[in-house]
Amino acid sequence: MKWTTLILLGIVIFLLFLWQPSVPKPAPVRTEPESSPAVAVREPFYRIEARLEGERRLEVRQQVEFTYSGGGRVRFHFWPLAFSREDTTPAPPEAYPYGFDAGAVDLHTVTTGGQKVDPEIEGVLITVPLTGLDLGEKATVTFEYTLEVPRVRYRYGYADHILNLGNWFPILAPEGHESTKYPPVGDPFTSLVGNYEVKITVPQKKIVAAGTSGEEQTHKDETKTIVFQGNNMRDFALVISSDFVVARRQVDGVVVYAYSPEGFNHVRRLVNTAVDVLQYYAAVFGPYPYPSLAVAETSLYPLQGMEYPGLVMISSREVITPKRLQWILAHEIAHQWWYGAVGNDQLQEPWIDEGLATYSAYLYMENLYGKENVEKPWERKETQAALLDFYQPVTAFQERTQYIDTVYHGAALYWDTLEQFVGREKVLRLLKELYHKYRFKIINGKEMMNFVANYK
Ligand SMILES: [Zn+2]
Repeated sequence: MKWTTLILLGIVIFLLFLWQPSVPKPAPVRTEPESSPAVAVREPFYRIEARLEGERRLEVRQQVEFTYSGGGRVRFHFWPLAFSREDTTPAPPEAYPYGFDAGAVDLHTVTTGGQKVDPEIEGVLITVPLTGLDLGEKATVTFEYTLEVPRVRYRYGYADHILNLGNWFPILAPEGHESTKYPPVGDPFTSLVGNYEVKITVPQKKIVAAGTSGEEQTHKDETKTIVFQGNNMRDFALVISSDFVVARRQVDGVVVYAYSPEGFNHVRRLVNTAVDVLQYYAAVFGPYPYPSLAVAETSLYPLQGMEYPGLVMISSREVITPKRLQWILAHEIAHQWWYGAVGNDQLQEPWIDEGLATYSAYLYMENLYGKENVEKPWERKETQAALLDFYQPVTAFQERTQYIDTVYHGAALYWDTLEQFVGREKVLRLLKELYHKYRFKIINGKEMMNFVANYK
């Protein structure tokens, strides 16, 4: 047993003691959170109408319906705002193929209750004033804006004839999870599940990957409108290109799509891998939470992949060896369970979803290749010193490799170590129940540890 494993065993015992409620045998514990508040589930409804003009300009009208929760205001994260300045963009200089490009965000109007309002904007956080509402009353905010997506290989960006629309529209910032900055490390997003209707009009030659299957309607002016509808989704991303080849398979009632500019054989490999991963997790953790899954191979730097509900982006740099592709896809698809369905604060407690996605990917790979043929990244010598600080926020890390070594691998080691205590079968049973209990909710670290400590 390696020394880090021994220390981790110590930490597991310590955490179990630390989070063990003092009252013996409590009913299901409802804890008061410290670092990241638990959020009650609401059902915001997003109606987004967007028109793509040229390659990367979008005219958008967006209506958000939600339940008023007090304070005389509501807050949204509008992540594209960060890209307009070199000192606030989350993308590193190497991600810009032609040097820094600010793109543009023009927020034309914000209205609520039929009235134009002046929102307050601080960094990526928009505060919209609300008046005359009672607690629990339905409220609506409408945004009209134009986006000129910057030329950058990022989750929001245009490069190599592919438009990535990840974290691209104003999304409700849950109380206690607000951020004015878009950190360069990690996937710093926290959002509530909601329902979506996204209508996008694009030139007919464009192929649109999204988190749900769409209904397409063509127009005389050589454009088409695709309507996507999705329930219980935490976000809604799109990837658009004329160069995409598409493959589609249906498995256990889920439609799986793959999109890539690399040709038919390649896209078929992507879709087959995605189906295999999805079936494995469905058997281990419980049914896949959405009706469809899209895998879009695109230009991302330095990100290897990126998860959105019903859609994962895979960096084309990563699609090199089949085994490497399987690791990355298994990690990103695991996020459909850990982040998509079971939500967490990815800024303050990224170890929750990243640790589980890494551990899940390992389980998938081990199942496929056998224990002796798959490396546990957390057992690499160079990562071992970093592992023990895994439960830190994204902002504690300046550097991506250090972040991955610590948060991804440290938290995966936590689950791996737990196996040594209670056996894998019990850990998998625990995760299955965790998924069942917290699906479409947000869990914090304290609740997670309580769940582990009280699991019989
Ligand atoms: Zn991840």
